Amino acid sequence: MRTIGLIGGMSFESTAVYYKTINEAVRARLGGLHSAEILLRSVDFQTIVDLQKAGRWDAAADRLGKAARGLERAGADCLLICTNTMHLVADEVAATVRVPLINIIDETAKAIVAAGARRPLLLATRYTMEEGFYARRMAAHGLALTTPGEVGRAIVHDVIFDELCAGTVRDASRAAFLTLIEKAKDDGCDAVILGCTEICLLLDPAALPLPGFDSTAIHVAAAIDFALGDETKAAAE
Ligand code: GLU
Repeated sequence: MRTIGLIGGMSFESTAVYYKTINEAVRARLGGLHSAEILLRSVDFQTIVDLQKAGRWDAAADRLGKAARGLERAGADCLLICTNTMHLVADEVAATVRVPLINIIDETAKAIVAAGARRPLLLATRYTMEEGFYARRMAAHGLALTTPGEVGRAIVHDVIFDELCAGTVRDASRAAFLTLIEKAKDDGCDAVILGCTEICLLLDPAALPLPGFDSTAIHVAAAIDFALGDETKAAAE
């Protein structure tokens, strides 16, 4: 089994989901009391949030690059940045290590394409919805992203930072997200991306008005495939 390196803490609420679901998947595939070989480097999220707000992406890339090199030195065979937003600097981080960085945008795009959808709605932080890096990378896979309008984007961003990253899950916020998904469906979208690693705490991707693609679960599945290879997958099916 190969060792999975997690760059987490952004926020720790979603990193906990990564840790648990990676281990659950390894136990399901290998049986018994098997669990995953994981190295976790968890950062102080407030320092990253401050850099995001200041637009200091280079400084954030430096920090995550340092974390990546530390995980590589410690024996990680692959790396995951456990947040969509910080994939804004994923290429810079990947360039500082030799081990592969499993990119959440590529993996999510591949899952959407495989399902036959082409016009996904993206629910994510303002950075992910507005900075262009996510839409460009999705476009390279043939996908045309839609985002909510200005008011909807503000709602989604604020729920992520003020509630989900702070450990709060509110029914009213779930209802607001569902309204945005209904509107996107009326406008012709054929899928919805839970493009923030905490949204799975609020929404069940299998119970939405549009087919849901949970970036956290998709990222985890890709890590498992890397760590275990295809043989155990075939055996489990
Ligand atoms: N975990 C979130 C994401 O997937 C937001 C936290 C962050 O800004 O990194 O984008």
